Amino acid sequence: MAIASINPTTGDVIQNFTALSEQELTTAVAQAQAAFESYRHTTFEERASWMLKAAALLVAHREDYARLMTLEMGKPITEAIAEVEKSAWVCRFYAENAETFLSQESIATDAHHSYVTYHPLGAILAVMPWNFPFWQVFRFAAPALMAGNVGLLKHASNVPQCALKIAEIFQAAGFPAQVFQTLLIGADQIAPLISDPRIKAATLTGSEPAGMSLAQASGHELKKVVLELGGSDPFIVLESADIASAAETAAKARMINNGQSCVAAKRFIVAESVADEFTEKFIAQLQHWKIGDPFDATTQLGPLATEKILLELDQQVQTAVEHGAKILLGGTSLKDSPELPASIRSGYYYPPTVLTRITPHNPAFVQEFFGPVALVFTVKDITEAIKLANATPFGLAASAWTNDPQEQIQLIRDLEAGAVFINGLVKSDPRLPFGGIKRSGFGRELGRPGILEFVNIKTVWIK
Ligand code: NDP
Repeated sequence: MAIASINPTTGDVIQNFTALSEQELTTAVAQAQAAFESYRHTTFEERASWMLKAAALLVAHREDYARLMTLEMGKPITEAIAEVEKSAWVCRFYAENAETFLSQESIATDAHHSYVTYHPLGAILAVMPWNFPFWQVFRFAAPALMAGNVGLLKHASNVPQCALKIAEIFQAAGFPAQVFQTLLIGADQIAPLISDPRIKAATLTGSEPAGMSLAQASGHELKKVVLELGGSDPFIVLESADIASAAETAAKARMINNGQSCVAAKRFIVAESVADEFTEKFIAQLQHWKIGDPFDATTQLGPLATEKILLELDQQVQTAVEHGAKILLGGTSLKDSPELPASIRSGYYYPPTVLTRITPHNPAFVQEFFGPVALVFTVKDITEAIKLANATPFGLAASAWTNDPQEQIQLIRDLEAGAVFINGLVKSDPRLPFGGIKRSGFGRELGRPGILEFVNIKTVWIK
């Protein structure tokens, strides 16, 4: 994929970028290693002061940074501003908590003194996606840098300006040179990079094929990797739920970030006794979702990030319909549609879409829809709901709606997911670990588990 900023709202190419040469890449890795040799000896206090400055810069320039994201990948500007603020939050969170999370722990043994101490690993490679161009990077960088590691970012090829801006922010915040570097490289340059002994570990957020490729390269080199991949999160609605509230949240949970979030609710699994009421209210919400220019603060649904994503999503919907799915809403690409204002007609727009009657032989049954497409299923009871929720290769998160305490316990126990949210929208939070099971990946980001992923947990035993 060429490294380029292409405005998904208009299809216009804004700027092309040249990938680093092999020589430039080798120099960058050498500089990262050199930076690590001194950075690892900085104190938590120093690191925290730079991280807090990064947070302050994010807040001070939130509108500029938000505009950059909206320009390159089309998210509604209000969501982009919220994303910059959340990035500042994760910086503050680790600035304030890293030292406590990594403080030495004494453990009584036969030694005079035995304890566990946490040391940084070195240069960590982060392969990041375009869907939350700031948040995904800061949620990696804040704990990694606070732990004393240095970061190398390979961002998605369609958000190069965001990638460069993030490195600038860390530099302006006072972090020593080359502690955080952006590498403008293609995906094909990752495997050779992983084999460099100065790269100690890697993390990737993105698709399953990208995750498998990175895991394979890292496995070959016996290097630690954290993977945050796709999801097809269930949103379960049972009889005792507050249906109006569930339907309102369901619409937000599916439409967030123009439908392109790993933890967006994608499969709506509804008890038959409340299915008609829920579906009617859900569709009523989506019918009024405001589609438009993502720079307009009233827009709720902007374009998809790339033409490829639009074409793939459209194809997925058509295939689902060919296999018997019924369209309740939307279902046709809006690219070049006269329904849109002329100024954005060539953008990569897809409308809110609801499909139902998806049987197990339909490819849609196990696919992730990375766009504003909801699949609605009707089930008899909680047992059937859990069975269907788990009938996917993914296991990222789940949202379940019920006011019955016994049902809540059963859902928490039996849903195969890295997180279960009861009567609420699934969202990441710096204080809570985040990550999946099954084909959604492994390892955790955020919380204390997030900072422990890239440290040497060193055992010390003194006679
Ligand atoms: P990709 O997984 O292709 O891209 C994510 C990152 O991985 C980018 O930096 C990309 O670089 C890099 N990458 C791509 N191929 C490889 C590879 N073989 N080895 C190592 N790194 C690689 O995501 P897409 O943009 O293609 O999106 C497609 C699907 O990915 C979505 O439909 C969704 O299912 C999933 N996805 C999930 C996300 C999540 O939050 N969990 C986020 C984004 C996507 P480059 O851009 O240069 O190709």
